[in-house]
Amino acid sequence: MKKVHNFFAGPCVLPGQAIDKAIEALKDFRGTGVPVVSISHRSKEWMQVMDECRALWKELLHIPDTHEVLFMGGGASLQFLCVAMNFLEKKAGYLETGVWAKKALKEAKGIGEAYAVASSADTTFNYIPKGFEIPSDIDYFHITSNNTIYGTQIKEDYDSPVPLIADMSSDIMSRPRDISKYALIYGGAQKNVGPAGVAFAIIRKDALGKVSRYIPTMLNYQTYIDGGSMFNTPPVYAIYIMYETLSWLKSIGGVEAIYKINRQKADLLYAEIDRNPLFVGTAAKEDRSDMNVCFVMAPGYEALQDEFLEFAKGQGMLGIKGHRSVGGFRASIYNACPVESVEALVKCMQDFESMKK
Ligand SMILES: *Cc1c(COP(=O)(O)O)cnc(C)c1O
Repeated sequence: MKKVHNFFAGPCVLPGQAIDKAIEALKDFRGTGVPVVSISHRSKEWMQVMDECRALWKELLHIPDTHEVLFMGGGASLQFLCVAMNFLEKKAGYLETGVWAKKALKEAKGIGEAYAVASSADTTFNYIPKGFEIPSDIDYFHITSNNTIYGTQIKEDYDSPVPLIADMSSDIMSRPRDISKYALIYGGAQKNVGPAGVAFAIIRKDALGKVSRYIPTMLNYQTYIDGGSMFNTPPVYAIYIMYETLSWLKSIGGVEAIYKINRQKADLLYAEIDRNPLFVGTAAKEDRSDMNVCFVMAPGYEALQDEFLEFAKGQGMLGIKGHRSVGGFRASIYNACPVESVEALVKCMQDFESMKK
């Protein structure tokens, strides 16, 4: 197979070990003689995977007993609606830090009153707003912990006077978090914890039941709590790959261990961006994401953009083109991206600089 370095933003790189195990399970699931996708989701073998997967979530993120872990369909985008359906009674506040945050806010506006408490739209979302106060008269405050498109990240766990809800699609399990501070953390699995097709929700059980509307069964978090995320047939293969991805994470030392590696990878790449006269980072330095590293050609070198993309591609770099809404470059260096890939990208930037000098 061709040697490549995978920097896609999502779906994205997954641990090779998880892919190998998933292929095995597609042939013979735990000695049952049938593929994992061909066995009843009520079988004891499958129920065991569900239990083990939930247990891995709880162990890796130190999730307190007050919270439950749920697996749902529909991706993070359906969670935008679920959040408002389950939590919005009178008014909700959102931190507007990018396109995903805006989409979450839009869904809430369709359900009730919702507004942006603070926003970084004024400078194309290249920073995280600071110095705002979380209002105490809202039902919940919604944040996007990592802004996948702009490469900014909220690194602290806010103290909030109201239930705090976070879209952690693109940095879940990448760094330790104080889960007890959140009423709900959700996201699509396809950035750090598995393939597309399953979303996760970590929910504080006593935060539910505060709205008066009818909540459709499949949008109601309570349905998933009561049914162990199996009210209906769950996305079994996506959950299975997630289970293997988390098993891999545990085997290398868990979230605390991967956090150190993630910091190392990000430091390596940002250092090159800051050193190399051809490139410049786009996110405010103090808000730079450890997961999505965004940069552009430095002033005066803009015309070299396509040439660098071609050169990088020739060196095996995949997926470094920036999001279509912002342009430039984006290297997504999620958990499963090896340090070696980041080193290869740094070398590629240095080689390009030598060529142009
Ligand atoms: C990718 C992403 C989404 C969208 O996820 P889907 O599962 O495709 O709906 C939402 N929020 C963030 C922060 C993302 O990175």
